[in-house]
Amino acid sequence: MADAASTEHPTQPETQRLFFALWPDDATRDALDRTSKWLHQHWGGRRMRAETLHLTLAFLGATRMAQLPALRAVLDGLDVPAFSLRLDQVGFWPGNRIAWLKPGVPPAGLATLAGELRAGLQATGVSFDPRPFFPHVTLLRNSSGGMASACQPVHWHVDRVALLESGSAGGRSGYAVCCERGLPRA
Ligand code: ATP
Ligand code: MG
Repeated sequence: MADAASTEHPTQPETQRLFFALWPDDATRDALDRTSKWLHQHWGGRRMRAETLHLTLAFLGATRMAQLPALRAVLDGLDVPAFSLRLDQVGFWPGNRIAWLKPGVPPAGLATLAGELRAGLQATGVSFDPRPFFPHVTLLRNSSGGMASACQPVHWHVDRVALLESGSAGGRSGYAVCCERGLPRA
C-alpha cells in the first residue's frame, strides 16, 4: 500500500521554495535593523526580524530538490567582483503595504549580478519570476507608509551571494542558507 505522502501527491516531486539573495554580514544586518527601527517609528507596521533581512536577486519559488546541483553550478559560474552598495532611500508600496529600503543609485555590479544569475537560470532551464529586478530590502509589513525619502545610508560591502530556502520552522516563517559563494575582490 502507498504511504500517506505518495497518496496525497502521487506525481509531485519534493520541492523547496528557493530564491537567490544578498544575505548581510552581521554589521550590515545591524545597520539594516537600525533603519527598520527608525522607519517603524514613522510609518508603523510589523518589523521584519533582523535575522530575516535580505535583498532578493531572483525568486525561483517551488523548485525540485534534484535541481540543487544545477543551482550550485549557476552560483559557481558567476563572474562578478565584490562591490559596494549604498542603501539610502525608503519607500512604500500601498498595494501590499510593504515599506522598503533601496539604493538611490544602484551600483553597476548589482544589475550585473542579478542579470548573470537570471541568464544562468535561463540557460539551465530553471524557472524564476521574470519581473524586472527592483533591488530593495523589505523592512516593514502591514505598514501605513509615508512619503518616499532619503535616509541615513546603510553601506553594504557585497562580497557573497546566497541561495536561500524560504520556509517555516516551529510556526515561524524564516529563511535558511542552502549554499553560498564569495565574490572576488574588485
Ligand atoms: P510569506 O510569503 O510567507 O509572507 P516571505 O514573503 O518573507 O514570506 P517568500 O514569499 O518565500 O517569503 O519570499 C522570499 C523573498 O522573495 C522575499 O524577499 C520576497 O519579497 C521575494 N519574492 C516572493 N515572491 C516573489 C516573486 N513572485 N517575485 C519576486 N520576488 C518574490
Ligand atoms: Mg511572500
